Amino acid sequence: MSGLHTHEEHSSNGHAQEHTHAQDHSHTNTKAVLNRMNRAIGHMEAVKTMIEDGRDCSEVLIQIAAVRSAINNIGKIILEDHINHCVVDAIETGDWQVLKDLNDAIDKFIK
Ligand SMILES: [Zn+2]
Repeated sequence: MSGLHTHEEHSSNGHAQEHTHAQDHSHTNTKAVLNRMNRAIGHMEAVKTMIEDGRDCSEVLIQIAAVRSAINNIGKIILEDHINHCVVDAIETGDWQVLKDLNDAIDKFIK
């Protein structure tokens, strides 16, 4: 999905611009996703340092598991956001390609 966030709210013309285009990304949790992403990256750097320092392999594995579950949770938030916004819009506009793409993505995500 694109990094463009095109949620528009122009009070100047008084028109609600949400849900105008099915292609627009109007996710509400993008900020939370980015925060979690930064934390996961920091965590990953810490694990790298553990390996460089020759830390106990079992400890390293436990930290890798923690990073993995953090990344999975990020994916779940993105998925929820996508379903609640983009997919709802797509159903309203009859854009079945979005559902097809989602099916493919879920297939890979839950593997
Ligand atoms: Zn989306």
